[in-house]
Amino acid sequence: MRFVVDEIPEDGLNFAGESQKQDFAIDSADCRLSAPVKVTGTLEKVAREVFFQGRVETRLKVTCCRCLEPFQFLVKSGVTAHFVPESNHAQEDRPEIELHAEDIDIEYYEGDAIDLAQAVHDQILLSLPASCLCREDCRGLCPHCGANLNQGDCGCRDEVSGDPRLDILKTLKDKIK
Ligand SMILES: [Zn+2]
Ligand SMILES: [Zn+2]
Repeated sequence: MRFVVDEIPEDGLNFAGESQKQDFAIDSADCRLSAPVKVTGTLEKVAREVFFQGRVETRLKVTCCRCLEPFQFLVKSGVTAHFVPESNHAQEDRPEIELHAEDIDIEYYEGDAIDLAQAVHDQILLSLPASCLCREDCRGLCPHCGANLNQGDCGCRDEVSGDPRLDILKTLKDKIK
């Protein structure tokens, strides 16, 4: 997903591309890419700065944080990036400059080409919700036997309906009598 800045037309570039999942190093036990990464968008050039605005689409195999089963999470997300040549960075490296919120997404590029991979990589991970559920009403695991309650009742509930601490109190009471 590299673009040579000189080859981006002055009136912008629309593109659609696909990268292999291996290009993104999103490959942990709890979260790995399971499909190629489709990226579409536009590149606009202002002097040597490039603005990227697009969409990313792919699939992740993630672990449900409630029932611990793996499931497919569809990524469909907007993505933006602002590329500035590294040489500008050096010139602007004055201590009085403060980072503005909109500057945090700036990526400095070296040489004559920009690469969208980092911005796309970050956006894929950002698209995951903080608590990743296989479905909204995931019933999770039984706290007593560990069975996946989405697959049916495990039968524990009747046995543990009472608070075990109360049982101990009852036993004590019985002894006192
Ligand atoms: Zn689940
Ligand atoms: Zn159970």
